[in-house]
Amino acid sequence: GALLAHMMVDPIGLILRWYDELQIAQVSLARLVGVREIEPDAGDAAVRPQGRDVRAEQVRFGYREGVDVLHQVSVAVPPGTRVALVGPSGAGKSTLGRLLAGIYAPRTGEVTLGGAQLSRMPAERVREHVALVNQEHHVFTGSLRDNLRLARAHAEDAELWAALGAVDADGWARALGDGLDTQVGSGGTALTPAQAQQVALARLVLADPHTLVLDEATSLLDPRAARHLERSLARVLDGRTVIAIAHRLHTAHDADVIAVVEAGRISELGSHDELVAAGGAYAALWRSWHG
Ligand code: ATP
Repeated sequence: GALLAHMMVDPIGLILRWYDELQIAQVSLARLVGVREIEPDAGDAAVRPQGRDVRAEQVRFGYREGVDVLHQVSVAVPPGTRVALVGPSGAGKSTLGRLLAGIYAPRTGEVTLGGAQLSRMPAERVREHVALVNQEHHVFTGSLRDNLRLARAHAEDAELWAALGAVDADGWARALGDGLDTQVGSGGTALTPAQAQQVALARLVLADPHTLVLDEATSLLDPRAARHLERSLARVLDGRTVIAIAHRLHTAHDADVIAVVEAGRISELGSHDELVAAGGAYAALWRSWHG
């Protein structure tokens, strides 16, 4: 919990990449939470996870031919674990996060969920299990209902209200003139940044993936809004596996496991106390952060 208590001072929103290219009605859940860049329509419907553990095994990946960003990275994330990825800028934390979320496929090696390779599953199936969450959040032009149903197309209004309630957004949502029919986004009712992030969190509640890859945000909200959102996010994350890309070191402090990523490799793996005691890169980062 405390990992996220730290993280949530800087709230986040659901990723909605490539939204601008898409009509709202055509936005599938796969697109909502991140598009797999490689063969989006590939995947074998027979490939199903047999469990919830996420693993990278000897993963090599790069964005450009001949340039590897990740070198033989292996990490195992048991269900319910909170892992923090820390390390210098450009080390590959976000890239590893995207691989663990099934957005990119490794060049060699495997990323598996419950023993099944993410890159062999249909993207829609991956998205049922794993979501990538970051500070990008969008409110689409459309009704509040449309915005929420992006996460689950046929959700009943009662489910949408429950999701809003789960993230403490039902109060302001009920106060909107037309409830779920209220038009939001450009030309409609302007939502505050905190409200927009709550809508993103409510989508997450509706999508209900068991594993989240969180790219820590640094967006600024006023402290009261930030605390409010912090509580909402804590509830959303409760009980899920969380792989947090910690852009600030203190986010890592209470994670179950910290993975230090340096130059495309995991150089240290352990709890905060273990890594501080080991006196390596994490300990140095921690000291410099304090210092
Ligand atoms: P930061 O803490 O600054 O976010 P990071 O550890 O998350 O850094 P990555 O964002 O994974 O690091 O970047 C690792 C390397 O991959 C960097 O050299 C970066 O320039 C490169 N890279 C990241 N994303 C892309 C992309 N979409 N296309 C091409 N290169 C990329």
